[in-house]
Amino acid sequence: MTEIRADWATKDFYKVLGVGKNASQTDIKKAYRKLARENHPDSNPGDANKHDTFKSVAEAYDVLGDPDKRKAYDDFRSQVSSGPFAGGFGGGFRPPGGFDIDDVIRGHSGGFGDLFGDFLGGTGRAQRPSQSRARPVRGPDVESSATIGFTDSIDGVTISLRLTSDAPCPTCKGTGGKPGTKPHICATCEGAGFIVSGVGGAFSLNETCPTCRGRQLVYDEPCPVCLGSGRGSSARTIQARIPAGVKDGQRIRLRGKGGPGENGGPAGDLFVTVKVTPHHLFGRKDDNLTLDVPVSFDEAALGADVKIPTLGGAPVTLKVPAGTPNGRTFRVRGRGARKKDGTNGDLLATVQVQVPATLNEGARKAVEDYRTATEGSTLRSGLFEAASP
Ligand SMILES: [Zn+2]
Ligand SMILES: [Zn+2]
Repeated sequence: MTEIRADWATKDFYKVLGVGKNASQTDIKKAYRKLARENHPDSNPGDANKHDTFKSVAEAYDVLGDPDKRKAYDDFRSQVSSGPFAGGFGGGFRPPGGFDIDDVIRGHSGGFGDLFGDFLGGTGRAQRPSQSRARPVRGPDVESSATIGFTDSIDGVTISLRLTSDAPCPTCKGTGGKPGTKPHICATCEGAGFIVSGVGGAFSLNETCPTCRGRQLVYDEPCPVCLGSGRGSSARTIQARIPAGVKDGQRIRLRGKGGPGENGGPAGDLFVTVKVTPHHLFGRKDDNLTLDVPVSFDEAALGADVKIPTLGGAPVTLKVPAGTPNGRTFRVRGRGARKKDGTNGDLLATVQVQVPATLNEGARKAVEDYRTATEGSTLRSGLFEAASP
């Protein structure tokens, strides 16, 4: 469906392009290209008349260059000249709709962008980034972070993540202008969207125009919602699966959970940096879990079966052999964290020999007897042998 625009009644596009009413599409295209080249803002910096002509030419070609639009235009004009609209719309009437220079400059109106690229490319000039039209663009990667419990980090967990992203402002659709107001071509960059620095040298640099921020157009009144930035923030909540065995500080990639793509492009990835809150008993060393196990002097000296907890499983019995020194680590196989290959790491249990802070009478007696029994121990003799030269 081609939209009929009321301002067509007062605009003679054939005259603008200097072609006859029966001109072929090829002739129209030729005339357009010639006029656009002559009047292009890039070739005529600061010439307001040429800018206006350029706009008119672009507007005319937007309609006549498209056979469907041209037919609608011709039909409408023939009705106007004989019907109730004859004579145009009068001074005070502001036609609804109207031509959107925004669409044309961004190359969304069809055909224009390609032509633009043609002749800009042909003269060795930089092509504008905004003219890459309708190409699928992969969505941006998104960074996020999450804090999970220690047990969840071992078992894996599904979490809800609230993500905020910089989407175009929904009120002004990213233009930054107050809805309903018309933009005009940016005076700073003369509609190019960028400015060239490093004048005169063989190397020049294109910088995004600071006035229009590369949009090529400026509005007199900024959008009241985004205050002219054109950006709005939107929030969404997604479910993210944190795999088993994740470590504190690890960055996890969730494919396709990032920002949405444009023009059918794939979504970006979501990266989640995971913070793991420490456990009050268990620690982590690579894929192994660690646990400190208090044992008494007599257990270490005589040997003992010591029951110890495992994470998320039944307790296991640690066989502490007679004569176990403080700090010895025992390995309980398969009771650690999940590994990438699906197997589990081990539980590393380290004995901590405890010295009682107080002794009851019976215990005191027993320890005194032990001292008597081990009289003449050479426990520290090695210290003095090592000290002599
Ligand atoms: Zn600008
Ligand atoms: Zn806005």
